[in-house]
Amino acid sequence: MRVLIVGSGISGCTAARLLADEGHDVEVWEARDHTGGNCHDERSGGVTVHKYGPHLFHTNDRKVWDFLSRFTAWKAYRHTVVAETALGRILIPYSPLTERKLGRALTDEEIRELIFVDYSEKQWGIAWAELPAAIKGRVPTRRRDEDDRYFTDEYQGQPADGYAELFARMLEGIPVMTGQDKEAWRERRSAVDRVIYTGKIDEYFGCSLGRLPYRSLRFEHRRSRERLPHAVINQCNRLPHTREYDHAYFSLEDPEETVITREYPLAHDAFNEPYYPMPFGEGQALYQRYKELAAAEEGTLFLGRLATYSYLDMWMAVAQAMVKVGAILKKSHLEA
Ligand code: UDP
Repeated sequence: MRVLIVGSGISGCTAARLLADEGHDVEVWEARDHTGGNCHDERSGGVTVHKYGPHLFHTNDRKVWDFLSRFTAWKAYRHTVVAETALGRILIPYSPLTERKLGRALTDEEIRELIFVDYSEKQWGIAWAELPAAIKGRVPTRRRDEDDRYFTDEYQGQPADGYAELFARMLEGIPVMTGQDKEAWRERRSAVDRVIYTGKIDEYFGCSLGRLPYRSLRFEHRRSRERLPHAVINQCNRLPHTREYDHAYFSLEDPEETVITREYPLAHDAFNEPYYPMPFGEGQALYQRYKELAAAEEGTLFLGRLATYSYLDMWMAVAQAMVKVGAILKKSHLEA
């Protein structure tokens, strides 16, 4: 089978590897000048910089962990997040550890006000009352145990040589065309049996039903000889940025100068990147209409955050690709 994969983020790379492993003829097209999508990182002055925001790998899915472990060893990074709140700096999610620091227990309502309302409203540009439960519930309100980590998944770590290297290894032996015109892949359509598309689903259909909404980010980077006291400090207040982080923590580095980034959320437009899909309200209704068009699209599989318009973590993107590409492989075995 000849397969054209449009986009080389974690979904595209996983699909490409799974198909190539089974002997299929795969080519990958990428508009950016690098692979790895938003997981891409770069070494800069002794620091591994997460160019498109912090990526911390975690999963409870053994198959996903084993698959990625074929291409990388892992650094035992322990991710913790501290929030700047009206009651000072506290560890989140809220747990008995925070309770001890504050000297009293907070009610669910107090936790919501302290940690979630301001941060979420600036992150999503939507009033708290309008936000769907799926977003509100992404971070647990409270944890009963004394685990100080942000994620509790069984498998956690950072790729030992960085994400860029992980993706380069996943794509070994597969032709990859980077720096391509965004629409040029269409010219290859008739030369292949299948397309796996990981770009924005609305753009696949020429935005014929309208543009899907996304949240974007503006990054303000600075070099600093002074480290932040924590890897990530969330601003749970009305300051314009949502979080600040020190990249040296993420890869357990100890450089002379680190890189510190402030993240400012904003609406997505023609000039910035679509970081977060907004699969609720009008966004979800419009996506459902594109999804119907996609279902009728013979020979194209839609994968990943942008093509399935869902807020996928890295592990979820890998798991989704494993399931959906697995189904194609099964079908091609049956047809063979
Ligand atoms: N959130 C919040 N306060 C925080 C951290 C998270 O209100 O201090 C909410 C917010 O709505 C955010 C969501 O939880 O968008 C998911 O947070 P997560 O840290 O998973 O965001 P990501 O790293 O994916 O941007």
